[in-house]
Amino acid sequence: MKANTFVGAFFILSLPLAGWLDFQTFADEPKPPTLAERQNFQTQLDKLQSHVVLFPQNLDEAIKSLTDSVTFTFDCPETTKVRQVSVRITTRQIKWDTELRVNNEKVGIPPNAAAYYIWQPKIIIKNREKHVVANNFIMLDSDTTTQREMNPLIAPLVSEAVLYHEILHGQLLINAMLEKAWRDKACNCDFDLGPADASHEQIPELVLAYLESLAALAKQIYAVHVPPQAENDSTGYFEVVIAAASMLATRTKWESYCPEGSNVEPASFHIRIKDEKVVASGKLIDKTKKGLVLVYFTPQ
Ligand SMILES: [Zn+2]
Repeated sequence: MKANTFVGAFFILSLPLAGWLDFQTFADEPKPPTLAERQNFQTQLDKLQSHVVLFPQNLDEAIKSLTDSVTFTFDCPETTKVRQVSVRITTRQIKWDTELRVNNEKVGIPPNAAAYYIWQPKIIIKNREKHVVANNFIMLDSDTTTQREMNPLIAPLVSEAVLYHEILHGQLLINAMLEKAWRDKACNCDFDLGPADASHEQIPELVLAYLESLAALAKQIYAVHVPPQAENDSTGYFEVVIAAASMLATRTKWESYCPEGSNVEPASFHIRIKDEKVVASGKLIDKTKKGLVLVYFTPQ
């Protein structure tokens, strides 16, 4: 998706839904985060940074943008409208606000959203030099009902994955800025926001890979992998052996969580003993793609 941003664009990304707003004006000055929000953000960020080696996609520049400016300058070909492009990016946490208004218009954050990343590039062209200043916002809901109701061992993983998701919206566009194709467009006055992945084409898979690594570290949590069920006569129903039945001797209860992009119908997921094995079953939403569910077994 592209946005011409001669006068500025306002760009919203959300979890789990994406929305786009392309306004001719900038956001009202948002409120600073509360102390609790700042502390929660820092806690999640510290956890993320302690797991850098697990990142399927690094977040170096986007994390840097939280405390410092990330800058790029590149020259354009002689034939283009501008001679040079400079980009400066910062990301600031703002107060979680489901009523966030832009230019007196409600943004309309989905009720199930837990976080937002907002790209906000302001573009000025002067003397054939294009200056882009993107003072981006990030906001986290530190007290979502979903996470309060979630298993206390799974919830921290999910909170961390939510922040990973949001910061990816920053990092993926920064990655694109290093590529010739993106720079060529920028030189021609097209500030392509597409790589920020508002449409969530890349992000859920990266987040799932990250959650899987986190689950592997957390010993009580099982990541149930479901292979695609692509046979012609398949209904998407699957059965996956996850352990020997003896495993359930000391763990009698289980709770499951289908993260965003899990590709498993949450209501269909079930665990039982079959042929001396612990078997997970359920139904894939898209039977041609793999699925992932996190399961926590409660000790007796
Ligand atoms: Zn998102």
